[in-house]
Amino acid sequence: MLSRLGVIVLAILIGSASYAIADGSGEAKSAHGNAPVKVLIIDGQNNHDAWPKSTIMMKKYLEATGKFSVDVARTQFTWKGGKYSADYPLNDGKKYEDLPTPKADPNFAPKFSDYDVVISNFGFGAADWPLATQKAFVEFVKSGGGFVSIHAADNSFPQWREYNEMIGLGGWGGRDQKSGPYVYYDDNGKVVRDKADGRGGGHGPQHEFPIVIRDASHPITEGVPAQFMHTKDELYERLRGPAINMNILATAFAAPAKKGSGRHEPTMMTIDFGKGRVFHSTLGHADYSFECVGFQTLFLRGTEWAATGKVTIAVPEDFPTATKPTSKKFE
Ligand SMILES: [Zn+2]
Repeated sequence: MLSRLGVIVLAILIGSASYAIADGSGEAKSAHGNAPVKVLIIDGQNNHDAWPKSTIMMKKYLEATGKFSVDVARTQFTWKGGKYSADYPLNDGKKYEDLPTPKADPNFAPKFSDYDVVISNFGFGAADWPLATQKAFVEFVKSGGGFVSIHAADNSFPQWREYNEMIGLGGWGGRDQKSGPYVYYDDNGKVVRDKADGRGGGHGPQHEFPIVIRDASHPITEGVPAQFMHTKDELYERLRGPAINMNILATAFAAPAKKGSGRHEPTMMTIDFGKGRVFHSTLGHADYSFECVGFQTLFLRGTEWAATGKVTIAVPEDFPTATKPTSKKFE
């Protein structure tokens, strides 16, 4: 006969068993029950010198929702961290060495499998990770982990095949027709996969530009206004890549008047990589670009989706309109 305590213990056991089942499904990978979604931001080498600040911004934005817990894994050798590293330290007790050129960190080996989603704030020129770390990352995403690529993270690792498959499209670092087609929307709303010869990656001067939602039925974009004005940013264009299992959520028109391509360029995409979900945003050049309420909303929703396959984060009241951007100053 079960004592009262025994019944309680049994109930707890059944409860944890059901979490285990949910965990194994690969769907709502809230393996941690109702606990926050576990996020790892990885960084250390990026041609955008504000990266230590934008890492802290993303961490704070995520934590402010109450839905995420966020750790940061940084390469021991950093590049272009400089002043921002001092102003926005990790305070993790580790020693970092900022160098004039990117240098591979042989000890960079985050335990990806401890997390639901990994966000890359690496950028152009990042030194290759150890082979074992590359393999662990591929395995993590392939087996159902989430991945979020922000702005110049799609410049990283041009020679790494699986990485290029995860991001769908990338730029610079020698990317060209061998990397895959240019992918964009034409004026009639048709997706073009252009195999013409040419380098991958470009942008005109920074400016405010409208973002047009192309797939309003995706959990990330559902309920988001069909068009919103983004704060000052780079408008990435002429990205190239394998673009396998890639869904374009939003585009921006790269106006020739702003030295743009004249095409509707992908700015937000999702990519299926094995069982893993990838959210790729080309936005986020500078700290003021991250302050855009539209950027933040879609970043949070994209991260939640990549981690769990669902989105519960609401579109806020102060979301930008079709013609007017809105920003929140980061304190
Ligand atoms: Zn940039």
